[in-house]
Amino acid sequence: MPEPAIVLIEDEPKIRRFLRVTLTRQGYRLFEAATGGDGLVEAATRQPDLVIVDLGLPDMDGCEVIRRLREWTDVPVIVLSARGQETDKVVALETGADDYVSKPFGPRELVARIRVALRHAARTASGEAATVAVGDLRVDLARRQVLVAGKEVHLTPIEYKLLTVLVRHAGKVLTHGQLLKEVWGPSHDGDAHYLRIYMLQLRRKLEADPARPRYLRTEPGVGYRLASE
Ligand code: CA
Repeated sequence: MPEPAIVLIEDEPKIRRFLRVTLTRQGYRLFEAATGGDGLVEAATRQPDLVIVDLGLPDMDGCEVIRRLREWTDVPVIVLSARGQETDKVVALETGADDYVSKPFGPRELVARIRVALRHAARTASGEAATVAVGDLRVDLARRQVLVAGKEVHLTPIEYKLLTVLVRHAGKVLTHGQLLKEVWGPSHDGDAHYLRIYMLQLRRKLEADPARPRYLRTEPGVGYRLASE
């Protein structure tokens, strides 16, 4: 098996250099592009296992790069964004990005995100796992059973639906809009307070300390993420 190949689309030479060192040290093969146009060509010719896209590129918006990638490939895409670009992150995720990392970021954070995205892509290719376990939390999708530290927890149908959407994307961030659409359907797109209420209930049932959640993490201004380890 060759090492996973990554196409990096980023115009800042300093960040490219940092990622070149970090990612090649981890054993990934890295192909670089400084513009969206070159990045799309690289992605098409290298057929990478993952693409990293900076949202602020000189020739086109990072979201436009994702949109064009999604016309022909399901390759996992991780977005690099500057702090305070919450709206851009949401647009990127809803355009088809799998995850994001905010600048400035550390190597461990990015590598963890890459692993989650690659693992998720492999799992999707081989069929869904029936059981997902994180720490003391265990969700058995086949039996519709939720256990915390071995004890069964009873959830309402909506709480369970919300949890299964997060479980199926464990480790990945989901936007408020994506969660609302999955759980309540497309007509409830704007009802973000439903989500807050049900997330609060889920945390009360699943978390040892609901105010400092271990599993159901808030991504400020963007959405929620189920911790994957
Ligand atoms: Ca940039």
